[in-house]
Amino acid sequence: MIGSLYIVSTPIGNLEDITHRAVKVLSSVDLIAAEDTRTTKILLDHYGVTKPMTSYFARNERQRTPQLIAELLAGKSIALVSDAGTPGISDPAHRIVIAAIERSVPVIPIPGPSAFVSALIVSGLRTDRFVFEGFLPVKKGRKTRLGILKSEPRTIILYESPHRMLKTLNEVFEVFGERQVVVARELTKKFEEIVRGPLSAILRNLSAKPTRGEYVLIIQGAGKEPLENPEKPT
Ligand code: SAM
Repeated sequence: MIGSLYIVSTPIGNLEDITHRAVKVLSSVDLIAAEDTRTTKILLDHYGVTKPMTSYFARNERQRTPQLIAELLAGKSIALVSDAGTPGISDPAHRIVIAAIERSVPVIPIPGPSAFVSALIVSGLRTDRFVFEGFLPVKKGRKTRLGILKSEPRTIILYESPHRMLKTLNEVFEVFGERQVVVARELTKKFEEIVRGPLSAILRNLSAKPTRGEYVLIIQGAGKEPLENPEKPT
């Protein structure tokens, strides 16, 4: 019998944000492949799960994928987790998912948190149509990418690291001009903060203090207004 590959979502900060099913799957598989085994151990310890772990991260996924596929074909079940949120969303997973599909290994999603969904649903910007862009390129091609996105009518969602956040906001302002944006920081954690407003005001606000923690940046689509509040008094 071939084993199954479970792609398991884990919390984006608050350890309570995991489904019963995810804990059950993590407790029942033969092996957990984790982006960082030390990070995942904190989660497993919290839920009293003790299982063998192996690493699966950006720099070893090419070599690790065939090893894990061999284990799956030999009948082992494997759960893949990343450091936070949903594997495959700006995190490793895609390579092993396609390798598993090619070998007819069942690939089973265990849904749960992803930072971009949490940020979008509280943004107040339109959620009916959106585009998830992940991280902008680190070096070359940032402005080109932003140039393409400038006329995008759907709500635009970006991930950014704290040390590039200000640079990214400045570049977005240069390319887009004034736009309504939402910065969601440290979601589900102690210093959770959601700031909404025109880009110029957000830039002033963020320039005044150090950027720390994890950020999602959401930008209103071109030519769009936030959805009208049906309850708003006229
Ligand atoms: N797989 C993850 C997911 O499903 O959201 C994303 C992993 S990606 C390597 C990490 C980026 O996600 C961070 O740089 C930040 O942009 C965003 N992120 C992760 N956790 C977050 C949180 N608690 N609050 C805000 N943004 C977060």
